[in-house]
Amino acid sequence: MVKPAPKSTPPATPQVACPGCRRRIAYSSDNPWRPFCSQRCRSADLGAWASERYRVASPLAPEDDGDAAQGQTDSPLH
Ligand SMILES: [Zn+2]
Repeated sequence: MVKPAPKSTPPATPQVACPGCRRRIAYSSDNPWRPFCSQRCRSADLGAWASERYRVASPLAPEDDGDAAQGQTDSPLH
């Protein structure tokens, strides 16, 4: 006996929240920007990442108000 394959159930597409705008999108191969909803959100997130890295990586802080002196013991190792 051959079990007939169910034809009425389409493959479920997982839904994810876009990290940029929190919109629910389908995480499918149709979306080249996944897990983002669009190129705009993707580049916006990458831009934020880059500026954040740039800021953190910058060794020259012109002035500290004292706040930055605390909590600098975090290990950079991941
Ligand atoms: Zn988005």
